[in-house]
Amino acid sequence: MSLSEESVSFAQQQGADLVGVVSLTGLDFPTGHRPEDYLPEAKSAVSIGYRLSKGSTLNLPQARNGYVLEFETANQELNRINRELCKFFEQRGYLAFGVPGTASIGDKKRLAADLSHRHLAVAAGLGKFGVNNLVLTENYGSRVRFTTVITTAELAETDLETEIECSECLNCVEICPVDALKGGQAKYSPQEGWRIAKERCYHQIFVKLNGKRCGLCIKACPLNR
Ligand code: SF4
Ligand code: SF4
Repeated sequence: MSLSEESVSFAQQQGADLVGVVSLTGLDFPTGHRPEDYLPEAKSAVSIGYRLSKGSTLNLPQARNGYVLEFETANQELNRINRELCKFFEQRGYLAFGVPGTASIGDKKRLAADLSHRHLAVAAGLGKFGVNNLVLTENYGSRVRFTTVITTAELAETDLETEIECSECLNCVEICPVDALKGGQAKYSPQEGWRIAKERCYHQIFVKLNGKRCGLCIKACPLNR
């Protein structure tokens, strides 16, 4: 088994639902969000997905407390898997850095992680962006949280592909209470996503809902069912 295959298998044993490996060579990153900012000499990324239960999303907004618990637990699990995978690489003589889950640590207001977990998940073939700017995955739609481990190990790519496509039904656009997804149909790309009106989404989550996650654009997506 190659080191890449071993690392995928290890992450799965730790509880990851989706795992893909991508080389960092040739990928473009925005300033301040580049792998070398966090781990100079980083060569590969392992993208890890953890699914939210279907039941936690279907009955939002009434079921928001349960959804928040599911969301926070998924983030904790992802951070734990990250940590274990970093130790896996270090035990084999490589450096590794577990990028924290989106907005789980630090500056919540930007609603973005240090590196874009979602772009790396798409680059690793785990899914494609939808109009909701979330990664749509084959088995779980957009109810998947992602995290990433970058490492100095040169890993073979997993070469995964996903057939799923956003149907552009616009359910997510219509359900958004603050119109944060309006205009996305014209702007989004399955490989690159798009920039939603994050400030509106931020205000809804951290001001109106007092920090409880919204999740309505996940609930509305027919690909989750
Ligand atoms: S999480 Fe809520 S506020 Fe943010 S884009 Fe989705 S539906 Fe809109
Ligand atoms: S709700 Fe419809 S438009 Fe939005 S991401 Fe899902 S399939 Fe695409």
